Amino acid sequence: MNVLLVFAHPEPRSLNGALRDVAVAELTAQGHDVLISDLYAQNWKSEIDRADFPALAKDARLKPGAASSEAFAAGTLTDDVKAEQEKLLSADVLILQFPLWWYTMPAILKGWVDRVYAYGFAYGVGEHSDRHWGDRFGEGTLAGKRAMLIVTTGGWEQHYSPRGINGPIDDLLFPINHGILYYPGYDVLPPFVAYRVDQLDEKGFDLIADRLRMRMRTLATTPPIPYRQQNGGDYLIPSLQLRPELGDPGVTGFGLHVDCSANRLSTTADILPMARSRQPT
Ligand code: FAD
Repeated sequence: MNVLLVFAHPEPRSLNGALRDVAVAELTAQGHDVLISDLYAQNWKSEIDRADFPALAKDARLKPGAASSEAFAAGTLTDDVKAEQEKLLSADVLILQFPLWWYTMPAILKGWVDRVYAYGFAYGVGEHSDRHWGDRFGEGTLAGKRAMLIVTTGGWEQHYSPRGINGPIDDLLFPINHGILYYPGYDVLPPFVAYRVDQLDEKGFDLIADRLRMRMRTLATTPPIPYRQQNGGDYLIPSLQLRPELGDPGVTGFGLHVDCSANRLSTTADILPMARSRQPT
């Protein structure tokens, strides 16, 4: 498979840099071709502004969505953005790797998403009507490909557990997994998270590296998180609310959008705490 790893850490000698090398070595040993977008090394421009739309008239009011749509359709997006889009189209698997900063991805990676996910490429795709609300959440340009996160945190695993003060890690990562990866069609694998890494010693590193190698070996076979497809019948259109008869009674929030119906639960319960915590006891 072709794997694209988008790396967002400013220091190559960091723990994240070392884990990236572990992942790449294992993927290469498995026969995969790996391409890295090293955002800091590329000096990636993270903010959307006028410079992103060179064809926009100087006196035109900048509307980012409309400008993105026109530039994508006309092929006038900037070369750095076009290059990343080409990489996404060529890759069978996308990995986003980053340290958790303020409970989410570093700004440079968010800016990569903002700019690369153009209108017509990642959103604004497909029929948009009262019957079909665009090709998204399970459908879209990147459907049929896999994606996953590699994340490191300073906080402990318990801090990110269902009753932990930071909130469950699946909830914190939901806007990325569901909103950024599932939205344009990716099958999203459970994230690889290394917790409490700030005082990591060599032994701790070896344990994390072993876990990561295992995830890289099973990239093609790990069952994805069973998010519900937007246009698969589970949602009312156009309100896009989950049908009242679906989902466990009393469950609200992000967990509703994971399909824990019996035939799918067995494949995910062991790997996704969000699904496991909702099984009947
Ligand atoms: P590094 O600092 O590079 O390394 C961590 C440790 O690993 C070091 O002690 C290093 O010696 C050791 N190590 C062991 N083996 C190796 C090896 N082979 N190579 C390199 N290092 C090794 N945490 C949270 O939980 N939630 C947050 O919201 C959050 N927000 C943050 C916001 C900011 C702006 C910052 C700077 C940190 C934040 N943190 C947060 C902590 C952050 O997530 C961790 O510091 C980060 O994940 C550590 O990853 P790193 O690659 O930077 O580690």
